[in-house]
Amino acid sequence: MKSPIPDYLDKVLVDIRADGDGGERADHIPELADAEPDRLAAVIVTTDGEIYACGDSDEEFSIQSIAKPFAYALAVQDRGWDEVHSKVGVEPSGEAFNELSMDCEGRPYNPMINAGAITVHSMLVGPEASPEEKLDRVIKGLSAFAGRELSIDERVCGSELDHAHRNLAIAHMLSGYEALEEEATDVVEGYTRQSSLLVTTRDLGVMAATLANDGVNPVTGERVIGGDVVKQVLSVMTTCGMYDAAGDWVTQVGIPAKSGVAGGVIGALPGQLGIATFSPRLDEHGNSVRGVALFERMSADLGLHLMHVPAMDRSVIRDITVIDASGGASGSSGEVRVVEVQGSIRFSGAERLVRQVYEGVNDGEFTEKGIALDLTAVHAIDIAAQTLILEILERLCADGKDVYLIDPDDVIPEAEARGDGTLTVIETREEL
Ligand code: GLN
Repeated sequence: MKSPIPDYLDKVLVDIRADGDGGERADHIPELADAEPDRLAAVIVTTDGEIYACGDSDEEFSIQSIAKPFAYALAVQDRGWDEVHSKVGVEPSGEAFNELSMDCEGRPYNPMINAGAITVHSMLVGPEASPEEKLDRVIKGLSAFAGRELSIDERVCGSELDHAHRNLAIAHMLSGYEALEEEATDVVEGYTRQSSLLVTTRDLGVMAATLANDGVNPVTGERVIGGDVVKQVLSVMTTCGMYDAAGDWVTQVGIPAKSGVAGGVIGALPGQLGIATFSPRLDEHGNSVRGVALFERMSADLGLHLMHVPAMDRSVIRDITVIDASGGASGSSGEVRVVEVQGSIRFSGAERLVRQVYEGVNDGEFTEKGIALDLTAVHAIDIAAQTLILEILERLCADGKDVYLIDPDDVIPEAEARGDGTLTVIETREEL
């Protein structure tokens, strides 16, 4: 039996082709103007590493501006958020990607436009690093995101360098503000080489999924960057990734994204999946026409919009039972009320749980001396939820209850150390 997902992707590609072929290939880099215009690909990569690839997904093309969020991630990792933010802002510019613009504090508006990305490239590794070390960092870093060694398309690179007047003008402007750590010509060369890295749509899907997976490449298992950096990068992709079309994109598609002028587009949906598309014809903003159409279609069909309100998690509590626990290995005696919890718990789920417990106690419904919280069916629980649950357990202990936490997978690692010794952590219900 075949999975329905590849069939779905095939159908979407057929429909998008049938919708016409508007747009023009990028021509400010002559080599890109010769790209095969009808190439089309779509790839979905899940955060557990499953890859669904369709169309021309193994054709290579230059990454162009899709390198920007990844280089930004590496620079934030290398230099820290404060230092990078002091030189590159995070506000949408509302201008074209290659505009010679600065904000009122003399910084490029954001790292997704050329002025910001050129500054970011110059910040890689550290202030003393050579242009070669910075380029090496970006090639190795982006290769780790892709899970394979990437190489530079020298023809595209040479073609862009021969026509790099705008980027040189931007770099000289940045030098005028003392924003660069090396010669303007060196940083433009490094930035252009970074933009000329060859990728396939499949590579881009894995790179996007690495962001969606909190910085861990879901195929290789390598942690490429920290989760805090990912949050930063995805935020800037959401507000600035599609240049002066960012507002339209957020309302229509609602996925943190980045496009490149060779025709690639990536989207990363936190905790769910990475998506990549490829089609060389661009709209007036420099975004792939069919790429935008593919994302609009998939976002609508698959319910991927970030602001889509999910079905409320009413089912955090799976079951509540009272058992006679006399004589169990944990030393409990008498009846224990066992509250069985399930799923992935964040603040709102923990709030429901906590509310049930304290209302049960205050209303006199939970009369048993013992209360056990059974987390066996919980697979993830974030810090806010852990803190809240520990707090209610401590209060139950202080109220004189015998409190047990059944936590075989150690989803609340802090628990052992808490509760003044009155909170007992056990592995199975049978120990009660
Ligand atoms: N290297 C290209 C440039 O600087 C990248 C632009 C893009 O992909 N939007 O013009």
